[in-house]
Amino acid sequence: MEIKTIGVIGAGAMGSGIAHVCALADHDVILVDIERARADAALIIIGGNMERQVRRALITQDEMDAGLARISVGDGYPALADCEVVIEAASENEVVKKAIYAELTETLKAEAIICSNTSSIPITRLAATTDRPEKFMGMHFMNPVPVMKLVELIRGLATDVETFDTIRELTLKLEKVPANSEDFPAFIVNRILLPMINEAVYALYEGVGTVESIDTAMKLGANHPMGPLELADFIGLDICYSVMQVLYDGLADTKYRPCPLLAKYVEAGWLGRKTGKGFYDYTGDEPVPTR
Ligand code: NAD
Repeated sequence: MEIKTIGVIGAGAMGSGIAHVCALADHDVILVDIERARADAALIIIGGNMERQVRRALITQDEMDAGLARISVGDGYPALADCEVVIEAASENEVVKKAIYAELTETLKAEAIICSNTSSIPITRLAATTDRPEKFMGMHFMNPVPVMKLVELIRGLATDVETFDTIRELTLKLEKVPANSEDFPAFIVNRILLPMINEAVYALYEGVGTVESIDTAMKLGANHPMGPLELADFIGLDICYSVMQVLYDGLADTKYRPCPLLAKYVEAGWLGRKTGKGFYDYTGDEPVPTR
């Protein structure tokens, strides 16, 4: 199947990044958000991000102009009726996602593929609520989408080979590198990364090290570009907590128990960079450890 037009649902951090890379790969993109203003704001953010790519000589001004011209904002799901592929990147809420698919498939053409960018909801379960489980799969981009190379491809139990192959081809066309993951809790990256972060929080909780010594140890001792606590603040401590909860519930193994100290930070509303405070305080010129 030739993919001409891609629908993107949800114009947040991920949806705008997905629209950005699809448009630069010569696809027409229609962006739909429940709040029209968020989709309009996303166009401005995408423009700013493309400008940065031009300044760094990653793309040319002509590529930027052509890319931006390919993105339009749609009002409601009927605007996506003729898309060959729709990538859903709406809020991480199963009820919201299922309601989107129900409304979307009323007008979406029968041969179109639906992908979800969910980080933690089982693909098979989402697919089963649609009219096309064989044409449904997970396409899990990393944040920030224009920068990060990886896309995890997750096949649901019913996903057919043609759908998987089409989305794999699309991933390569977006100049991303696919990694196949089976449909198990948190897929591959989060399954491995989040328990490491959780362990770093346990090390802090038990007094094995301070925020500074834990991050320094992992940066210089394991050659990680960011320390695990710094990375947790970047991801958002609420997200870290909820992924650990998904692993704990989904795999029923105590090794995934979220650290009580992580829960406490979330209860305090200290969610990391986005709230100005997490394992570090970001309100001054330099981040300062909060314990
Ligand atoms: P976000 O909160 O930045 O954006 C979500 C957008 O969805 C908002 O603009 C919201 O208005 C919109 N939305 C909510 N309900 C909607 C509906 N019914 N119809 C249309 N739009 C609706 O969230 P995000 O960080 O961009 O995450 C989106 C998805 O991507 C989630 O499933 C998340 O798990 C996944 N994801 C996030 C990251 C990350 O690091 N942020 C990484 C990989 C995957």
